[in-house]
Amino acid sequence: MLTRPPVIAEVTAHKQSPREIDPLPLIASRMSRLGTENAFKLGDDIQRCVDRGMDVIRFNLGAPDFRSAPHLNRVAGKALDAGRSGYCDPAGIFPFRQAIADHVRRTRGIDVTPDRVVVTPGAKPPIGYTVQTYVDKGDEVIYPSPGFPIYESWVRFVGAVPVPLSLSADRNFAFTADDLAALITERTKLIILCSPSNPTGGVLSRDELAGIAALVRERCRPDARIYSDEIYEQILFDGLEHESIVSHPGMPERTLLASGHSKGFAMTGWRLGWTVLPTEEEAAIFKRININIMSCVPPFLQEAGVAAYEDPASAREVRRMVDAFERRRNWIVPALNAIPGVRCRKPKGAFYVFPDVSGVCERLGVYEACETIHKGGRGPQTTPAGMLQMFLLYRYGVATMDRASFGTIGAEGQDFLRLSIANGMEDIRRGVARMAEAANDTRGFAEFVQSDDGSALFG
Ligand code: PLP
Repeated sequence: MLTRPPVIAEVTAHKQSPREIDPLPLIASRMSRLGTENAFKLGDDIQRCVDRGMDVIRFNLGAPDFRSAPHLNRVAGKALDAGRSGYCDPAGIFPFRQAIADHVRRTRGIDVTPDRVVVTPGAKPPIGYTVQTYVDKGDEVIYPSPGFPIYESWVRFVGAVPVPLSLSADRNFAFTADDLAALITERTKLIILCSPSNPTGGVLSRDELAGIAALVRERCRPDARIYSDEIYEQILFDGLEHESIVSHPGMPERTLLASGHSKGFAMTGWRLGWTVLPTEEEAAIFKRININIMSCVPPFLQEAGVAAYEDPASAREVRRMVDAFERRRNWIVPALNAIPGVRCRKPKGAFYVFPDVSGVCERLGVYEACETIHKGGRGPQTTPAGMLQMFLLYRYGVATMDRASFGTIGAEGQDFLRLSIANGMEDIRRGVARMAEAANDTRGFAEFVQSDDGSALFG
């Protein structure tokens, strides 16, 4: 049986009596600043619905409904059988870092050596690594909003100043170098870019990136860094090709280019991600963080990571999946627009649609309900899109993500939902049909707000 040493023993070791010690808070204050990713957090609500016997259509999670390719599964299995199951280089096995360097050279046209590459468990860790490595308290970090919520989470965690680059639907969620220029100051330490974008599906063109690169060269301090999140690099529609800021003059020496296998190769559970850093010295810091946190990414998984880039079968698998996403996009955008009160733009990449649902909120009386809750001093974090999101889940079995899940600062007054189209066509059809029905269910919404579910969720 495990025995816990009594607290009193530690106290005596410090030669103080328990009564003399100030009460310490159990949780360090910095933890209150760490955000979350609601796509995972919503899992508890979904489970509650499933436990009640509901059939839930999961538009919430950004995970391809495709399986990892058989030729990659075989490589990992063989590597395990061959005994490659121990610790390995914390920066990543050399052949994988070499394959990543070659991939970046082929796709971005820049020279990279493997000693500038660090492998991490997925493309999420390098976001926190980057903020911790470069950003001090009081430094400013510019990041897209709406954007992946983990950016804002880490910026707040380290006590830096979050500077959201607000993207608006009226401008197709695009931004120009001028928009960015307005946010750059002497204290700008990090600029985060994400193209193709989660959640908007926006894609930065070569010209737009050239404009941003020129601005960075001109206006940013030499020690400012760009974090280019390119995890959706393979998922582009309408024949578009992936473009990266790192391909522009002066950018390789300032940019951390991050990507991985989760999305493009349908390998979310494998946890294979990587970053190319501007210098070997900076890469050594990422390696040191790996050592401090998780030692290394399993070597047998990294061997499959090599094959993903080098086996020609991979390109065929990626094409098959991206074509399916494109067909789904082509179906879902007009289908959503046919629901009164929904306005949805056509994404150019990634696998999300991000419709404006303010018209539905109006028709169902969500704004009034939200106002009543706020007036009563309840539900401080409830937004209209958030209430609609819960109505869709608890009454119609459709799990979506609200706008505030993609950066809270500046999210007020923006009523959008994100739907992942990384779901089978049949589920997409059923989900949209349910949403169309829900959008007319004024009485059902009023009943939901008054129900036990409504009280539990909104106070
Ligand atoms: N960056 C963006 C923009 C994402 O959307 C995601 C996942 O949803 C990640 C990073 C994290 O990717 P991974 O699952 O490889 O950690």
